[in-house]
Amino acid sequence: MPLPTPNSAWAAGLDDFRELARTFCQKEIAPNIERYNAQKHVDRELWHKAGEVGLLALSIPEEYGGGGGTFAHEAVLFEEQARAGDSAWGVSVHNGIVAQYLLEYASEEKKKEWLPKFASGEMVGAIGMTEPGTGSDLQGIKTRAVRDGSHYVINGAKTFITNGGFADLVVLAVKTDPDAGAHGVSLIAVPADTPGFRRGRVLDKIGLKGQDTAELFFDDVRVPVANLLGEQEGQGFIQMMQQLPQERLLIAITAVAGMETAIEATIAYTKERTAFGRPIFSFQNTKFTLAEAATEATVARAFLDQCIERHLRGELDVRGAAMAKLWTTERVNKVVDDCLQLFGGYGYMTEYPIARAWTDLRITRIFGGTSEIMKEIISRTL
Ligand SMILES: Cc1cc2nc3c(=O)[nH]c(=O)nc-3n(C[C@H](O)[C@H](O)[C@H](O)COP(=O)(O)OP(=O)(O)OC[C@H]3O[C@@H](n4cnc5c(N)ncnc54)[C@H](O)[C@@H]3O)c2cc1C
Repeated sequence: MPLPTPNSAWAAGLDDFRELARTFCQKEIAPNIERYNAQKHVDRELWHKAGEVGLLALSIPEEYGGGGGTFAHEAVLFEEQARAGDSAWGVSVHNGIVAQYLLEYASEEKKKEWLPKFASGEMVGAIGMTEPGTGSDLQGIKTRAVRDGSHYVINGAKTFITNGGFADLVVLAVKTDPDAGAHGVSLIAVPADTPGFRRGRVLDKIGLKGQDTAELFFDDVRVPVANLLGEQEGQGFIQMMQQLPQERLLIAITAVAGMETAIEATIAYTKERTAFGRPIFSFQNTKFTLAEAATEATVARAFLDQCIERHLRGELDVRGAAMAKLWTTERVNKVVDDCLQLFGGYGYMTEYPIARAWTDLRITRIFGGTSEIMKEIISRTL
């Protein structure tokens, strides 16, 4: 049974694009999920295939080889990816985060060098903020970039980096002035083929098993000063604060699509499965659980759509994005847990998408800023 198309106003006119994204996710990704999970990464070829059909750098202007679309195109792709049950392909980081940093802050020359490769799949992007010693407190990063003539020399380590196993270009948060607090943070784009750049192991996780989340190490890595994002040092913290609302909205999209997909699957399963001579769906507990879940998803969808529309108008503020992330990620964890319960023992089997959703979506309350940090951000505005 084909999945319904969300009837969101912001997605009007994107039906053909949604069909393209859906077909790609269903044909190229869904059949390979178990293999991706086993090998802990997607095939490098997937990026090239996505580039060929035009699913990369969707909201990057055509002059840089991108799709010339808007955030709405990105949102449709991430919804369809979630609906296909995929959590392995790190396209939201590549398209929705790293390409945006390059577009906003890289020099014209570097944009022309890197963005067309982001669009074709020749280059995969990652963003390196988190370090072994600090995640929530980004001012506390220790990775250091020291100016040496026309280069920066970078030393340090990052961890939990999505796409880290295969990334060709990492937007790296570094300290250019360790005594200047937030004003001492800069972002530098580091090509992975630079000597001294080393990948650690792909990390073992409870979910997102097909994603190459990795440690990265930097030992005297020399990159040209031209790779600094922004016109001067010390802009990194402001740049991250400007981009984090979009990152949080991306996570909210995954959360809401995850809720909707889980509920659809649970309705179908409970109508098929019988106990005590009748479909499980017919028990009042099942109906009430699903009624609550459907209500949660409907409310979450309304708020998400409002936030996407605000973002498309350039009006989504830090607080709105934090609320969207906080609310939707907390709710999806509850909804998916309730849905899993209705699958009984089958819900615990990793071959069932509901089991994978339960482990995959747990991270949404942690990455992109934890729920506690979202509450901090929101409470500051009260
Ligand atoms: C699968 C995965 C993918 C990731 N991808 C990336 C990536 O691509 N790039 C990247 O840079 N990072 C990435 N991360 C890192 C992620 O963003 C961090 O794990 C997250 O920001 C939390 O940081 P931390 O792990 O250091 O936790 P900590 O900061 O050590 O937090 C531990 C606990 O303390 C709480 N806490 C901290 N500060 C406060 C406070 N002020 N008030 C109340 N409670 C507080 C937190 O909410 C949390 O509950 C990823 C992580 C995972 C697991």
